Amino acid sequence: MPIRTPEEYVASLRDGRRVYYRGELVPDVTTHPVIARAIDHASIDFQMAEDPKFRDLAVVEGAHGPRSRYFETPRDGKDLLARSRLIEASTRLGGTLVVLVKEIGTDALFALGNVAHDLDARAGTAYADRVRAFHEHCATNDLAIAVAQTDVKGDRSLGPSELAAHGNPDAYVRIVDRRPDGIVVRGAKTHTSCTTNVNELIVLPTRAMAAADADYAVSFAIPVDTPGMVLVASPHGGAERDRFDHPISSRHKMMETLTIFDDVFVPNERVFMAGEWQAAGPLALAFVEFHRFTAISYKLPLVDALVGAALLLADLNGIERAGHVRDKLSWLIGYAETLRALVQAGASRFRRHANGTAIPDPLTVNIAKMHFATNYHGAVARVQDIAGGSLATAPSGADLDNPAIGDWVRLAMSGKVGTDAVDRLRALNLAADLTASDFGGYQEVLAIHAEGSIEAQKLTILRQYDANQARAYARTLAGLDT
Ligand SMILES: Cc1cc2nc3c(=O)[nH]c(=O)nc-3n(C[C@H](O)[C@H](O)[C@H](O)COP(=O)(O)OP(=O)(O)OC[C@H]3O[C@@H](n4cnc5c(N)ncnc54)[C@H](O)[C@@H]3O)c2cc1C
Repeated sequence: MPIRTPEEYVASLRDGRRVYYRGELVPDVTTHPVIARAIDHASIDFQMAEDPKFRDLAVVEGAHGPRSRYFETPRDGKDLLARSRLIEASTRLGGTLVVLVKEIGTDALFALGNVAHDLDARAGTAYADRVRAFHEHCATNDLAIAVAQTDVKGDRSLGPSELAAHGNPDAYVRIVDRRPDGIVVRGAKTHTSCTTNVNELIVLPTRAMAAADADYAVSFAIPVDTPGMVLVASPHGGAERDRFDHPISSRHKMMETLTIFDDVFVPNERVFMAGEWQAAGPLALAFVEFHRFTAISYKLPLVDALVGAALLLADLNGIERAGHVRDKLSWLIGYAETLRALVQAGASRFRRHANGTAIPDPLTVNIAKMHFATNYHGAVARVQDIAGGSLATAPSGADLDNPAIGDWVRLAMSGKVGTDAVDRLRALNLAADLTASDFGGYQEVLAIHAEGSIEAQKLTILRQYDANQARAYARTLAGLDT
């Protein structure tokens, strides 16, 4: 089964998984009204593989037969660019929302491959073979994968063992039992995307660990229906909505869960780190090296949509020639195109790990992620300014259809002479869904926190930049070294 159909993907989600939504156990995620929207959205990855228009991008024909490009380990900048284009194209089909059910999992597989290689060389462990076997299992079965890295954490100023000393031992996932055939883990991860609708879950440490934290230095993969795993789905964005009024969020959704490990047994062949605390930090970092590149790739349709919505509404409002509007439009275009250029630079400035895997340039990628995140709310503000207050007050499509009030609604929505009032309402609804709905709020929080909060990007930029050459140049210019 090298490539699954969307139907096969959906059928695979009917298992014994324990998912709670608003306090109720969900008997079948595929028929749940909110989770089914997320499953439809995730099916895009499988539809693209079947679609002749996307087949070359989505599927790689190799010695192993056809398989999803996501599982191909990148070897150079060309491979990274192809992966980026696939992520961008699927997100475009996803109405600016990343699909993620293969993107994030393969980011974790590449990171695990690199760190297991280094760990085995240093400590004589044998993790790389296990990672390779699991990677192959996911690729040959075309599996959907979520990644749980972010622990619930508790007091952010304390490490896992310090929290344990304060009576909170489960704020980070930890090993509570070691058996000849595997480990038992306990604790909870949070914000885990897509867990309700994937097959496998990869667990990674979220931070560097000290020797006292050895039981918390743990990484593994398990099927989502493993006994002891409980998913508590977030209801954010779960309200029913009309397609005319919410053109994006009525069709596209991701689910996040609180992901509970209530004494879960993990067999040895699925354990990729168990106590090697020195490797926890490197694994956390190796994952974001790939995952932030995925992030900046999937942000491109979103920034394009903001530019497009601003252009549309400038025209429909009849203000496209106004100086302040042209100023905002040029800023938005610069914002989007700087991100696009940085994605390409991140791929072409790749470096190669000792095992041959191409890693997108972390300095460029983190600058790109920070550029996107720190300017995102400014971009939203510009779109909202050009659009006007109807973003928050416009009547609905149903009002338009009611003959008693429809003409008044058309009058209220009329814009530039010669344009259609309904077109203007549609454009406003797009901008409102992107910037002023619960989906818009979700995108804002996603911008700030997903793939690591902004401070994490700043730390990486400072760590990755070759400060010595800049300092040496400044010393020469200042005459310090003569
Ligand atoms: C929509 C969405 C989807 C996500 N999907 C996933 C996913 O699929 N898998 C996954 O593993 N994670 C996921 N995340 C989690 C994401 O990576 C985290 O939100 C992010 O790392 C921030 O962690 P946090 O939310 O716990 O916030 P916090 O870490 O609590 O951050 C809040 C603030 O505290 C600061 N802070 C935190 N610790 C310290 C400290 N020690 N010293 C000083 N300041 C500190 C931060 O810089 C920030 O300003 C997702 C997040 C979102 C919003």
